[in-house]
Order: sequence, then C-alpha cells, then structure tokens
Amino acid sequence: MENVIIIGSGPAGWTAALYTARANLKPVVLTGAQPGGLLTTTSIVENYPGFPEGVDGTELMMRMQQQAERFGAETRYSATVTKVDFSQRPFRLWLDDEVLEAKAVIIAAGASHRHLGLESERALERKGVTYCATCDGALPVFRHQPLVVVGGGDSACEEATYLTRFGSKVYLIHRRDQLRASKIMADRVLANSKIQPVWDSVVVDILDVKQDRVTGVQVKNVKTGAVSTIACAGVFVAIGHAPNTQIFKGQIEMDADGYLLCRPGTHTSVPGVFGAGDCVDKTYRQAITAAGSGCAAAIDCERYLATRG
Ligand code: NAP
Repeated sequence: MENVIIIGSGPAGWTAALYTARANLKPVVLTGAQPGGLLTTTSIVENYPGFPEGVDGTELMMRMQQQAERFGAETRYSATVTKVDFSQRPFRLWLDDEVLEAKAVIIAAGASHRHLGLESERALERKGVTYCATCDGALPVFRHQPLVVVGGGDSACEEATYLTRFGSKVYLIHRRDQLRASKIMADRVLANSKIQPVWDSVVVDILDVKQDRVTGVQVKNVKTGAVSTIACAGVFVAIGHAPNTQIFKGQIEMDADGYLLCRPGTHTSVPGVFGAGDCVDKTYRQAITAAGSGCAAAIDCERYLATRG
C-alpha cells in the first residue's frame, strides 16, 4: 500500500510530489496520458517567478519532476486512473485492470481543452481542427495559409500571436467585442498587423467535412445574425478548459461545472483525499497558483497522515 498517490503531473502534481517526498512519504505520481500536463503544450512561460527570460513549458515541468524525484518521488508514466473507490480505507485506484491502494490521495488531475461542440469540429479534429498551436502550428498544411483562432482569453491571444509565424493571416474570432485576455497579451494581438479580430462572432460550422479537411469556417455575428464564410486551412480552438474530474463523480463533492469543492484548504469532502491545481481552481488557473495549491495539499496530506499514525 502506498502512503500517498498523486494523480496528475502538472505544476500542482509535481509540487505536491516534491513536498510529500521531502516529508519521507515516498509519493507515487501517476502522470496521466500527458506527462507534465497542459503546460507542455504552451511555448514560453513568461510569468513563472524565477525565470526572468521566460522558460519553455515542457522544460519547466521536467525540472519540477527532477526536483521531486531527487527526494524520492516515484513516477509512473502514462498511468491513467480509470476508476476510484474512496468509500473505504485504504483508498483504491484502478489503472485499467491494475488496482493500487493508498492511505491518502492528492488529486491534481488538471483540466482539458473545451470543445465548441460542433459535429464538424469532431469530424475534422486532427484534419485541420486542433487545440494546440504550439503542438501543430508548424505543420506544413498550415504554412502560408489563412488560419482561425477561436476565443478571447490569454490562450487564444497566445495562439494567435504564435501562429503569425506560420500562417499568411490569423483571424481571431471572439464572441464579444472585448478580449478577456490580460492587457499585455491583448495589446500584443491588437498591435499585430497579421491578426484580424472578428468581434461578436461565433463559429457555427467548420468546412468541409466532405473533403475531409478544413477549408473554412461559417461565422455568425451574434448582434446582427449575419452568417459569413472565412476561408482557412486550420481552426485552433482556445476557448478555455474543463476540469478532469469525471471519474470522481459520485465519490467526492464538486460544483456544477465539475470543479472539486475543497474546504478548508485542500481537503475534499472525503478525509484523506485532497485537491490541487486546475481541477479545483476556476478563478486563477496559473502555473504558480497551481504549484502553490500542490504545496498546500502536500502539507494538508502530511498532517492528515501524521494524525492517523
Ligand atoms: P479563459 O480565460 O477561460 O478564456 C476562454 C475564452 O474563450 C473567453 O474569451 C471566452 O469568451 C471564450 N469562450 C468560452 N466558451 C466559448 C464558446 N463555447 N464559444 C466561443 N467562445 C468561448 O481560458 P484560457 O484563455 O484558456 O485561459 C485559462 C487560464 O490560463 C487563464 O487564467 C489565463 O490567464 C491562463 N493563461 C495564461 C497564459 C499566460 O499568461 N502566458 C497563457 C494561457 C493561459 P468570454 O470572454 O466571452 O467568456
């Protein structure tokens, strides 16, 4: 039986691993399908303290992992939890047919990209529809072609700016007439002559399922109702994230959007199960706040185990 199993390997997971490892708890980290989490799909992280020149997202996560492993954290790559039973002690976690047991669990499962919910989006995924400019932007199919980014947050602005390296033009389609992104990111986008914002507009269809590749989007202006077509070779969807908490439904309390409810601190509704990072936080969602909550979860976990002997 393990002392503590950490589900997830983003900033929250690795920081929880670092602190529980230094408390001699020999944590086991289940990385999930994407070791390092969503931060590995970003380019340069400019707002993580301690890196005045910025740091590559993947490099930051690898450094966190090395630091946790140096103190004895065990990493299980590509280990994805398919089922849990928190109704009895020890807690049980399934990796398909394999069952793990733990005295305590820290859930740092992060969040996944939100989808537009269009049938054509699903049909054309990886055929021009993508959720990660850093991963896919340099593909030959997108080079010197008009591209579309959907969303108005930091992710959409970051993706649009990044894609100007490859596309002939980038349309930023946003459902309002004001960006949600931080001022510095928004200013960068609005000052870039290769980016054309398309305000007050939503994508109602992605073309062309019959050709099995992206040739354009149908866009509806939400104020006038007018529908128009924008020709493009790629659609980069950057409309936020949904917490990866489906497998915990019915086991621990969460809000209507699926974010874990933790109070006080990082304690979930099940004593001995703690929550940290983007699967808890719908407000701040920064690498540094996720790391901070991973630290808090580790301290709460350590105290919980100490009181139970
Ligand atoms: P976000 O801040 O939640 O923004 C999502 C955007 O998508 C919003 O503009 C939203 O529109 C739009 N949207 C949501 N659902 C939509 C739908 N169904 N159809 C059309 N548009 C939709 O998400 P994010 O940009 O991924 O950022 C998440 C967090 O990560 C934020 O805290 C952000 O600061 C952080 N982040 C930071 C950096 C950085 O600093 N380098 C980079 C990326 C992300 P409304 O504005 O109308 O709600």
